[in-house]
Amino acid sequence: MTTSTSVRARFLGAGQITFDKATLGPVADGHVRVRVDVCALCGSDKRLLQSGSPVVPGHEIAGTVVDVGAGVTTPTGTRGIVYIPVYCGTCRRCVAGRTNQCLNLRELIGWQRDGGFAEHVDVPARCLLPVPDDVPLTTAVLGLDTVGTAAHALRLWQRIQPDGVDRALVIGAGPLGLGVISVAGAFGITAVEAYDPHDGRLATAVELGARAAADLESENQYDLVVEVSGAAAAREAAQRVVAPGGAVIALGESNAPYTMPATPRWRRTDCFTVRSFYFPTDEVAANWDLLRAHGVALRDRLTVPLTLDALPDAFARFVAGDYLKPCIVSEDAR
Ligand SMILES: [Zn+2]
Ligand SMILES: [Zn+2]
Repeated sequence: MTTSTSVRARFLGAGQITFDKATLGPVADGHVRVRVDVCALCGSDKRLLQSGSPVVPGHEIAGTVVDVGAGVTTPTGTRGIVYIPVYCGTCRRCVAGRTNQCLNLRELIGWQRDGGFAEHVDVPARCLLPVPDDVPLTTAVLGLDTVGTAAHALRLWQRIQPDGVDRALVIGAGPLGLGVISVAGAFGITAVEAYDPHDGRLATAVELGARAAADLESENQYDLVVEVSGAAAAREAAQRVVAPGGAVIALGESNAPYTMPATPRWRRTDCFTVRSFYFPTDEVAANWDLLRAHGVALRDRLTVPLTLDALPDAFARFVAGDYLKPCIVSEDAR
């Protein structure tokens, strides 16, 4: 058993971040201790930056196992990404491989228990997904919220529109929207348009293969609309521009209610509205292939490597819109 210390970020609320140093005891049964090599900042972390958090935030984690608890067969030295839903593994959804639909889901790592803005994080061994040797951790981390969530949404979408679509629109070109744009072609979506009020983000979407959308006012334009911003105006636009027979995939998150306007236009539109959450572990193997094809282009356009002690400044610049996907990257992973 090794005992060591770990520097951790604490979110105090109102944008304040401090650091403390925890003494690490033995690893709990069934858990692994991960040295955090990469932890990406996520737009959703801005909510915790404002509210403060009793746990260490950070939920897009890649790292290396340095110690394990009793009953764990994962070897130390294993490189992995951290799957944040602490799924039970025994309910009927988990047994069917749909771990993101766990019926007993209580905790998300980085939200209800300590996450990755730290030197180390302890997680249940089943939440550490090994990374293939040929995938660097700086791209592997994009297999979580950026590509994992995007690809799962498109896999759900394929089930409702198996014949494909003529026109698709992504509203919101943050990391997740850009993830959708990058992998859309792998799901047979050849013509993607994008909208974002931020010129730099829209330019990145265009670099990744999208065309800038010209008209978000006219009705009945798109067979598929992926709403990734969570803004009320964007949700309204999605419902306006979707064509009858089309689909709205609701990925954007905000604390604002998701309202359906119940106007004549809405009442007379035959369409799907789909919400998806994260991704099941049984999709991970296929996602490595998506990352092999698209991960480096995404990483090079999205991420900015920083050190843990620079987290307060990273958040300030992230909130200001200067950075798309800042990542805390340890010396070992550079
Ligand atoms: Zn995230
Ligand atoms: Zn379960």
